[in-house]
Amino acid sequence: MIADSFKHKGLRKALVEELERKGITDISVLEAIGVVPRHVFLDSSLDNIAYQDKALPIGCDQTISQPFTVAFQTELLDLKPNEKVLEIGTGSGYQTSVLCQMKARVFTIERHKPLYVRAQSVLKLMKYNAKCYFGDGYKGLPSYAPFDKIIITCGAKIIPSDLVSQLKVGGVLVIPLGDQTQVMYRITKKTDSELVKEKFGNFKFVPMLNDKES
Ligand code: SAH
Repeated sequence: MIADSFKHKGLRKALVEELERKGITDISVLEAIGVVPRHVFLDSSLDNIAYQDKALPIGCDQTISQPFTVAFQTELLDLKPNEKVLEIGTGSGYQTSVLCQMKARVFTIERHKPLYVRAQSVLKLMKYNAKCYFGDGYKGLPSYAPFDKIIITCGAKIIPSDLVSQLKVGGVLVIPLGDQTQVMYRITKKTDSELVKEKFGNFKFVPMLNDKES
């Protein structure tokens, strides 16, 4: 059972208004944020601050992304219903749920086992049928490729070539690129050999690490 009180609903509505004020315009993104109960993805001790526009701890030294960042990245994806989306960095499963709520078919990878286990069970409880995988997102999911869209929710130092090759021609990769801080990029795969890169401001993410890093 998911406890979603009037108080949670009110705080969520206020969050959506805040995101609109901060420049999010895509109605389908705002609607999804207005529906997905963010507090369910957090420890109950954080219930009171679950709808603040802040990144919050989720264990394993990781964070649930700030709602503005979730909305911003999702807006850049420009989702159409039923598109196949690969997410790198399941974390809490919140961004995954926003994508599912927007009717994407979502595949998501997480490298921390406890987070993968918990997100998978919360998503199931919420009846979102995202496919969760435990492993190294740098490698993607070649057996389910190609994807219409790919979203990376951790800071990458490079554009992972395996992920580019798993993207459809015409597809879009949204990736925060950089070491200490990141610049948000939207990369459109124009042809098999041509990428168009657009920049969208500075963000701060936990790092994207490969299976040998800790
Ligand atoms: N989308 C998440 C954000 C979590 S933070 C949410 O809504 O909660 C980013 C996550 O990326 C962390 O959980 C981290 O463990 C994970 N991550 C980092 N490098 C990764 C990799 N190479 N493959 C898969 N997941 C990775």
